[in-house]
Amino acid sequence: MPIIFYTSNLNEKMYTRLIRNILLHIDTRPNTIKPFLDNWTIMIRPLSHTDLRFFQHIKTTSGQTITNKTPSGVTGQYTIDLFMHDVDDIRHFMENSDRIQHEICHAKLYKTPKFVSGVHSKILETTGEKIKSFKIFFWTNRWKFWQRIPINIIDIREDIKHPYN
Ligand SMILES: [Zn+2]
Repeated sequence: MPIIFYTSNLNEKMYTRLIRNILLHIDTRPNTIKPFLDNWTIMIRPLSHTDLRFFQHIKTTSGQTITNKTPSGVTGQYTIDLFMHDVDDIRHFMENSDRIQHEICHAKLYKTPKFVSGVHSKILETTGEKIKSFKIFFWTNRWKFWQRIPINIIDIREDIKHPYN
């Protein structure tokens, strides 16, 4: 499975399960996870890999310049580069998850007219707040006891089915 971890502290099984979970909920057609993971390479990198020279002209959806303090990502050429907090706690997991779902949304609409707009039209430019989203719960007992962690996913389910409408 082409999910490659350059991080030191993240639990690879948990993040792999998270990615599969997001894929499962975002694409409601049968049997789409394996073909996706066969086609795409997902690089999980620590924030310290963030190349600020490369990113300095790119703005996030909330209009801020990308920094090496908050998670970010780049999707294209069947590769997703995710720059993540390399910290294993629930708060950082939630921040990382939010970026992971965002880039997966782009990837699912890759090579369609909705590659960028299908995702960003569902986020408020000013605050980054999601206008159209749905919530899933990720179960884990990694931190002391069983918890269900809410993850708010940009709702591109219809766009995936009808990318040319
Ligand atoms: Zn985006």
